[in-house]
Amino acid sequence: MSIKPVAKIWMNGALVDWADAKIHILSHVIQYGSGWFEGIRAYETKRGTAIFRLAEHLRRMHDSCKIYRVEIPYTLDQLKQAIIDTIKANGLKACYIRPLVYRGYGDVGVDPSGIPIDVAIAVWEWGSYLGAGALANGIDVRLSSWHRAAPNTFPTYAKSTGNYLNSQLIRLEAAADGYAEGIALDAYGYVSEGSGENIFMVRDRILFTPPLTRAVLPGITRMSLIRIARDAGYEVHEVDISREMLYIADELFFCGTAAEITPIRSIDRIVIGDGKPGPITLDLQKRFFEIVRDGKDPYQWLTFVE
Ligand code: PMP
Repeated sequence: MSIKPVAKIWMNGALVDWADAKIHILSHVIQYGSGWFEGIRAYETKRGTAIFRLAEHLRRMHDSCKIYRVEIPYTLDQLKQAIIDTIKANGLKACYIRPLVYRGYGDVGVDPSGIPIDVAIAVWEWGSYLGAGALANGIDVRLSSWHRAAPNTFPTYAKSTGNYLNSQLIRLEAAADGYAEGIALDAYGYVSEGSGENIFMVRDRILFTPPLTRAVLPGITRMSLIRIARDAGYEVHEVDISREMLYIADELFFCGTAAEITPIRSIDRIVIGDGKPGPITLDLQKRFFEIVRDGKDPYQWLTFVE
């Protein structure tokens, strides 16, 4: 999928032309992966353009930065306004939003002291992340031979640019073997997550998802679905999941801002359920889309752009 340029990108407080949103090749982020970012969606709801869980995304970006001793030179309110301004400046009704905090151009050593902290916000139109038909029909995935980072190596709680080298390995391996996505285990062999999505399994109408200590990113969609599912009367457990539990699941699905709720119809060519999106997956998809598409917002999760 290729990106369709829009008019403006926000950089350090100013809206600059898309083509001019450039940084120096020796910027710390390029040399050493020192960036912390978010992926947020704004939906065109029946009540206007609305950003899904903006405060929680910005909080996570703040947390990611805190882990790396980075102070964002803008308040959360300023970032919130900057995101709204960027969407408006580009006249988009629905979009993906990518705020990025990064160590910019200063010195070239690993030591980041004194290197400026820069902030950029880009928006673009992004459809189905895991391919056409993924939301409706589900995808085929494999168990990755790559594991997620071990504890006390690369903090997986932080959404840092460098962590996505691991994600790229998972995704490339899956693609090379003809799968839409890979599922990685953690350092101890328990199920962790996809390259850019959290995972849920259903067995006997009970939902299971790995706990946050299993090298998963604390997904905003994951957290939202746990709430939606429990309020809908489902039992949800955050527990360790073994590889073979996935094979015998009644239903499996990925969730994430980009992937939304994507059913998984097979893993390692083992068919899940009857190979079609299961009833609980579809029920949760419906409940999620009622919020972000219809603008029904019992949880106050939407920030309206106007
Ligand atoms: N795990 C990883 C590695 C991700 O990149 C993402 C996407 N941000 C997720 C999980 C899902 O998180 P969220 O629901 O907040 O988008």
